[in-house]
Amino acid sequence: LVVVDRINKHFGDLHVLKDISTTVAKGEVVVVIGPSGSGKSTLCRAINRLETIDSGTITIDGKVLPSEGAELARLRADVGMVFQSFNLFAHKTILENVTLAPMKVRRLSKKDAESRGMEMLDRVGVANQAGKMPAQLSGGQQQRVAIARSLAMEPKLILLDEPTSALDPEMINEVLDVMVGLAKDGMTMLVVTHEMGFARKAADRVLFMADGMIEEEATPEKFFTDPQSPRAQDFLSKVL
Ligand code: ATP
Ligand code: MG
Repeated sequence: LVVVDRINKHFGDLHVLKDISTTVAKGEVVVVIGPSGSGKSTLCRAINRLETIDSGTITIDGKVLPSEGAELARLRADVGMVFQSFNLFAHKTILENVTLAPMKVRRLSKKDAESRGMEMLDRVGVANQAGKMPAQLSGGQQQRVAIARSLAMEPKLILLDEPTSALDPEMINEVLDVMVGLAKDGMTMLVVTHEMGFARKAADRVLFMADGMIEEEATPEKFFTDPQSPRAQDFLSKVL
């Protein structure tokens, strides 16, 4: 579904993505881990073209992601993105947050957008909050709304960049549970996370990034029990 082929990204003199190649198959859950500054967020943002790339190609569902234009907007609409900071529209209700894009981009009627929106809010367990404003919800609830908002666009793929990092510990599991549910339902996901339990439970594949490169790529069983590269061994010795 996603093919990343030898992409490079610089920020000035800083070479942040170094000839990165990888794929995400339909229905696959890929977890990206690695030390701070290794380029995990930049990779996510590149796949969604929130960040331009200097060379290489990203193909989504057979189409090369262009740098601009209507085709980019179309491809982007198929890629959901969930950030560490939930980024909900503060002055819209929860239901409005999940109906806005489907109405604008997918041209759904208000009625259809609302019924789909309620269905997605129900799926993440916050349907009873639909009439509230984001600030009235807990962090865990807001992040689940952000996931529902992504789902309402019926994306082919969801990118989640440290979706639980901004949450208080007691709220992390409610969001991880939703993510595990999505994985079980066959959603294609690329997840940057420090939650090794999630990686073990839900990942089909782990990408370990270090210094702008994919240092190691393995199944979670293999990666967590028998990491090959010294950097992965060192990283795991610190986080496990
Ligand atoms: P973290 O675990 O801290 O989120 P990360 O692996 O997501 O780290 P990135 O955010 O992708 O890392 O950043 C990779 C490198 O690129 C870092 O050195 C960062 O300082 C740099 N960087 C990221 N965004 C920019 C930017 N807009 N301008 C300049 N440098 C940037
Ligand atoms: Mg990051």
